[in-house]
Amino acid sequence: MRAGEASLEAGQVAKAVPVGAATKGTGANVPLNVHGAGVTDQVPNATAAAAPAKGSVSGVAAEQGAATAGKVVRKGAAASDDLAITANPGTGNPTAISRGIGTLNSRQVAVLDRLPGFGSNTIASKSFGQRDLAALTAATGDEFAMFSTGGRRLIYRGNFESVPINQKMAVQLSKQGWRWSSHTHPGFEFGVLRSSPGDHAILRAMGGNQSAIFNSIGQRGIFTSTGDSLNGWKPW
Ligand SMILES: [Zn+2]
Repeated sequence: MRAGEASLEAGQVAKAVPVGAATKGTGANVPLNVHGAGVTDQVPNATAAAAPAKGSVSGVAAEQGAATAGKVVRKGAAASDDLAITANPGTGNPTAISRGIGTLNSRQVAVLDRLPGFGSNTIASKSFGQRDLAALTAATGDEFAMFSTGGRRLIYRGNFESVPINQKMAVQLSKQGWRWSSHTHPGFEFGVLRSSPGDHAILRAMGGNQSAIFNSIGQRGIFTSTGDSLNGWKPW
């Protein structure tokens, strides 16, 4: 959903490049590879699917498992570094990850593991924040979008230039109580934080006042349904 591109229009499906196998998918991973098709049935219900366990034990297990399987794209330290008792200050930090000196933390890895490719989506607890979303983009180079309701987050994975959410889906999500909290634009400059016409259209369809955009190093921009908000710029 970058500026200048009608990325939310139909016709971009051909660019979808599923990453990883679908064999690991759970019931929560419903591929949404087709713009506008079967929207009603495919949008996760906000009242269904309990948030995943966020215990550190399972998170660490997931991280180790992912590292072993080699399914999670990581830059920087080897997986064995995660076993050190001393905390790595780069862990989970978008800036560090984008510079290749940090790794995703266990919470981030657990979510990414449920988002194997373009159009994948999953529900996480509210402990998964916007900084975590930026970290996923730093690690993968892909765009992600996050919606919130109550104590849950609904996260969609896109590719390097878009997330397959169209206006029809946006209306459906809004009816189910989801608000569009934020999405990411892969890149390392303030310039990539500019919102696109597609971003405005989706926010308008959801009836939202404003939403945030994060780049690969965690810098933030705020936009409304009509354009960028000059008050929203915030470097981490
Ligand atoms: Zn966008």
